[in-house]
Amino acid sequence: MKEYDYVIIGGGCAGLSLAYELDTHNKLDDKTLAIIEPRDNYKRDKTWSFWKVDQHNFDDCIKNRWNEFSIKTNSESKTIRCDQFPYESIDSGLFYDKINTRLKKNKNIKFFKNIKDLDIRNSFIFNSLPSLKGKSDSNFWQHFHGVEIETKETCFNERAVNLMDFNCEQRGSVHFFYILPFSKNKAMVETTWLSKKDDSLKDYDYQIKIYLNNLGIKDYKINYREEGAIPLFYPINKKENNKINIGTAGGMTRLSTGYTFLNIQEHSKYIRKNIENIKKTKVYNIGQKYRFLDEIFLRVLKKYPEKMPNIFSKIFNSSYSTAIKFLSNKSNIFEDMSIILKMPKWIFIKSIFN
Ligand SMILES: Cc1cc2nc3c(=O)[nH]c(=O)nc-3n(C[C@H](O)[C@H](O)[C@H](O)COP(=O)(O)OP(=O)(O)OC[C@H]3O[C@@H](n4cnc5c(N)ncnc54)[C@H](O)[C@@H]3O)c2cc1C
Repeated sequence: MKEYDYVIIGGGCAGLSLAYELDTHNKLDDKTLAIIEPRDNYKRDKTWSFWKVDQHNFDDCIKNRWNEFSIKTNSESKTIRCDQFPYESIDSGLFYDKINTRLKKNKNIKFFKNIKDLDIRNSFIFNSLPSLKGKSDSNFWQHFHGVEIETKETCFNERAVNLMDFNCEQRGSVHFFYILPFSKNKAMVETTWLSKKDDSLKDYDYQIKIYLNNLGIKDYKINYREEGAIPLFYPINKKENNKINIGTAGGMTRLSTGYTFLNIQEHSKYIRKNIENIKKTKVYNIGQKYRFLDEIFLRVLKKYPEKMPNIFSKIFNSSYSTAIKFLSNKSNIFEDMSIILKMPKWIFIKSIFN
């Protein structure tokens, strides 16, 4: 069995981003890489969106970019301009094509379906398969189902993303709709829950139908669907000498928001910069400060779900750049304080000591 210098387990967002970063910086000219990925072919399966607080390698995979977003609760509606940090959506189909086309040209990179086909005893492993054993049922998830719809009439304001619209059934949980308007008559409409695993909340089609109906949108066709569940807890991360976890498995998700894509890109750059000395390199994380703040935020969310629409909305009572930097782990201490002081103090203080 052939041996490889590096093995990436999982050729998804994190695995492919890392392979691309290494390849484009010539780190695989004299090293070999095996990517373990079970899927037979790649097709669009996700739409990765984020505020562009950093450069990334995938400007040519952007499906849309917006300079405005809105947040709606049953008592207020805010539309916020974000010219400095536009909101971008990446089409995963274009992302997979771009990376796979590039990787195929390097004879030092090979794809395998099964890790058993390799001898990995002397390889350095980058693993993107999260180990969630025992944590899966008791913890919270961001779970969602989105449909890309096309209408005959013009229905959408194509200038503004609807980041969170809480005008929908809450069922004792936290529930909102998210709309990415691609044009006046095409949009991704997503029903999103922050909750424990609960099958009774998975009547997604019904929820979307009612929501669209309430917006007066009855006549539409569905062109594409995506569904997912992002763990709002950190996977079990056993430290091993010859292995680094990446992507969701590597704790790259911000627990308060589910945003992961740009953190994956930062992590890939970090690994590429340190690849020659990877065994001795400090483990990368998105920042202890954010881990601590997000843990408290989640405690509040679990205990007071009914307060969350107001809390999410209050984050944006700070300047838009402060709020975006905070949510994208780029804020300084003054910006953190500006957000923290906007929060309902008593329930957050109680949750720290809970
Ligand atoms: C539908 C969806 C939408 C999302 N939207 C956003 C967003 O808008 N913004 C954002 O920041 N984040 C978003 N996320 C969160 C996060 O960015 C994604 O989950 C991202 O794909 C995580 O990358 P990953 O490499 O960790 O996991 P994945 O991309 O899921 O990659 C894991 C790979 O492992 C492969 N695999 C499975 N089993 C095995 C096995 N036994 N051996 C080897 N390989 C295996 C899978 O086929 C897959 O290719 C979204 C998540 C989902 C599910």
